[in-house]
Amino acid sequence: MSAGDWLDTFPGVRGNEPLARHSQFGVGGPAQWFITTRDAGVLAEVLRRCADSGVSVTMLGAGSNTLISDEGIDGLVIRHNDRSLRVVDERTIELGAGCMMPRVALDCATRGLAGVEFGIGVPGTLGASVYGNAGAFGTEMADVLVDCTSLDPHGEPLTLTAAECDFGYRRSRFKEDLSGNVVVSARVRVHADDPGRVRERTEAIQAQRKASQPYGIRSLGSVFKNPPDDRAGRLIEAAGLKGRRSGGAQISPKHANFIVNVDHATAADVLTLVRVAHDSVQEQFGVDLEREIIVLGSETSGEHRD
Ligand SMILES: Cc1cc2nc3c(=O)[nH]c(=O)nc-3n(C[C@H](O)[C@H](O)[C@H](O)COP(=O)(O)OP(=O)(O)OC[C@H]3O[C@@H](n4cnc5c(N)ncnc54)[C@H](O)[C@@H]3O)c2cc1C
Repeated sequence: MSAGDWLDTFPGVRGNEPLARHSQFGVGGPAQWFITTRDAGVLAEVLRRCADSGVSVTMLGAGSNTLISDEGIDGLVIRHNDRSLRVVDERTIELGAGCMMPRVALDCATRGLAGVEFGIGVPGTLGASVYGNAGAFGTEMADVLVDCTSLDPHGEPLTLTAAECDFGYRRSRFKEDLSGNVVVSARVRVHADDPGRVRERTEAIQAQRKASQPYGIRSLGSVFKNPPDDRAGRLIEAAGLKGRRSGGAQISPKHANFIVNVDHATAADVLTLVRVAHDSVQEQFGVDLEREIIVLGSETSGEHRD
């Protein structure tokens, strides 16, 4: 008997599910159990039963900011896939946590709703973007969020205003005292504008992104946060690491704060490069870079394959 035996027969749950196929980066071992749902009621029930039976829960969005360990993840991995977008009024939209931010930006442009153009540069879900206060080109979730609703580990709802989320640079309370909560939806502030102008701004952000970041190749976004008054990419490049490879992973020759999956990379390959970049920048410039990417599962395994 194991604590999660009930999951073997719970509708929609898959056992031993390979997570690489659920991650944009295409890396990661299996989840002990995995479920995708669009239904907040089902999500609440699953969370409550996991809490009661002692099964650990891990949320996964699009996997565009997380490195999943090669050994996979124990317990239940949940993808909340509610992609609904509802226009509440000319100033507010309501989004399900599974909405992809680029799709939100494009849909809003078509409807002549401005304010979320930055979403075109964030290839992840709304839920994770609230969790990590994602931002691009001068705007972040904190600037546009009205409020968000989450479920606590027992499935009980909690709605917080943006101020109550205590957002900072790539952080929110969902990474801290509310780390067991799951974001299910959010209301976001917009304003009416000419659809052509909104689309132009959205396309300009997209063009800037394509020019400065690796595009059309699998990456995890920025590996490290920018330290105060500097840029992680500049420091890693100055350390001579652009293009450095470990197995199938490479520090992008285009932007040194990105690691790209060039040839069936493993999590161990990526972690080797993360450590090399961190330690080289610390040794050469005395800067202790802080990770932006999130590692799900164990970090201890894996060998260098340089
Ligand atoms: C090419 C590229 C460019 C990028 N550019 C940017 C950028 O400009 N700005 C930026 O901020 N980010 C950027 N990113 C990173 C990434 O897209 C964002 O961090 C995004 O918000 C992550 O969304 P996701 O759905 O992929 O999250 P995932 O990587 O799946 O998960 C990230 C974290 O959120 C948690 N999580 C997921 N869903 C929920 C939920 N519903 N409730 C609570 N926690 C949850 C996960 O457990 C995990 O800890 C980029 C990534 C790539 C690949």
